[in-house]
Amino acid sequence: MASSSVKNITIIGAGMVGSLLSIYLARRGYKVSIFERRPDMRTENIPAGRSINLALSDRGWRGLEGVGIETEIRKIGIPMSGRIMHSISGDLTYQQYGEKDQAIYATSRGILNCEMMNLAEKNGVKIHFNERCAGIDLEHNTARFENTLTKISSSNSSDLIFGADGAFSAARLQLQLTTERFQYSQNYLEHAYKELMIPAGPGGEFQMEKHALHIWPRGGYMMIALPNLDGSFTVTLFFPFEGKDSFATINNPSECLQFFNRVFPDAVKIMPTLTEDFFQNPTGGLVTVKCFPWTYKDKMALIGDSAHAITPFYGQGMNCGFEDCTVLNSLIDQFDGDWNKILPEYQQARKPNSDAIADLAVMNFIEMRDLVGSPQFLLQKKIEARVHDKYPQKWLPLYSQVTFSSIPYADALANGRRQQSIMQEVMAMPDIDKRWDSSEVENFILQKIS
Ligand SMILES: Cc1cc2nc3c(=O)[nH]c(=O)nc-3n(C[C@H](O)[C@H](O)[C@H](O)COP(=O)(O)OP(=O)(O)OC[C@H]3O[C@@H](n4cnc5c(N)ncnc54)[C@H](O)[C@@H]3O)c2cc1C
Repeated sequence: MASSSVKNITIIGAGMVGSLLSIYLARRGYKVSIFERRPDMRTENIPAGRSINLALSDRGWRGLEGVGIETEIRKIGIPMSGRIMHSISGDLTYQQYGEKDQAIYATSRGILNCEMMNLAEKNGVKIHFNERCAGIDLEHNTARFENTLTKISSSNSSDLIFGADGAFSAARLQLQLTTERFQYSQNYLEHAYKELMIPAGPGGEFQMEKHALHIWPRGGYMMIALPNLDGSFTVTLFFPFEGKDSFATINNPSECLQFFNRVFPDAVKIMPTLTEDFFQNPTGGLVTVKCFPWTYKDKMALIGDSAHAITPFYGQGMNCGFEDCTVLNSLIDQFDGDWNKILPEYQQARKPNSDAIADLAVMNFIEMRDLVGSPQFLLQKKIEARVHDKYPQKWLPLYSQVTFSSIPYADALANGRRQQSIMQEVMAMPDIDKRWDSSEVENFILQKIS
């Protein structure tokens, strides 16, 4: 279906969200062209960008299901049904994420992106590589590009333009320059991230439990590790730029080893390339971008990180971008391809939810780096899991609302705040560690939620 006057659609960016969006649109009969700044990662050996692997969860799966590639991708994902916390002394504590059959999936960003580009092309999408968007004439639906190899400039006109060009979007900048009262905020954390590696063992085996996300919570900072199909783990250190323990105070291999031996002693034993990785791999900033509006008349819209870049602590950035595609797709049905109606509805529907997941992600950083190691936190989660098991309709833990449901993020945030205030009262009860599974505690919670 391609009603109204829109026939040709341009997408800027062939990343995770732009590629998926192109498949949805091409299947509806639109003629879709993507312009991507990078070379084709399927033929050139270039990294897929930030983070080697990503956690895919329910919202992401729904986005992939809509174009029929969910089963293919599930084959290359590694289910992680819980997190394993590593203490300094090497003790391991397991915490299940949801129900027994629920998991988030560690998936290779590169493979996922390539699969989606393949499918996009099979559906008739034309992808132009090495084309950097240099500006957009919004009134005339014309995007300008510069070829990154030849430096030749060109322009492309279409009926509708999507900016899917990530956190530092050129499309968004154009909206900012053109739209009156454009709201924009960009907030960097005081922490940055660096990717490190735990290789496969000598026989190709995983050197830690593979069906879990590993966390080394250390208060002001943390390290996490997600499994890869080849038996390795991609490790990410989230660490302050400055301060006592920070990137600024680790300046040579011996300082690096000293620090890791002190705070991550069990990990350092299986990280033979630690110092090389630490000094060769880039240090990436962690930014939250919020803006509004996301659309310009019926001519342009932002989607994915270009509309809402968030920090990675809930593993939801890509999942949220895929949900943008799902929502947009259902609005195309609802308004029978009338983009005058689709675009305003799209931004109204998604903006409160992307703001909510941005806030939830920052809140989860504190939980992951600080709280997950504490017995009080684990007890609270145990109580919540018990109430959920007995009364699943009445209590769904916040993590499950975000990760294993399609409850709008804004509702999940509101529910989570309400639940947290109840749990604060519960955790303040005398001897809660002894009577956490008593009917008295259970009744107190039930009374509060009703
Ligand atoms: C360390 C880290 C870990 C993460 N982990 C997770 C996770 O576990 N789960 C999850 O769901 N999300 C995660 N994310 C977030 C996720 O990476 C992003 O939300 C997701 O990649 C957004 O997809 P996108 O297509 O909107 O943007 P991108 O993936 O950034 O793609 C944008 C594309 O546009 C291209 N481009 C940029 N500028 C231009 C231009 N001017 N002209 C043409 N093309 C351009 C880029 O080359 C790129 O291909 C993580 C992020 C980080 C940093």
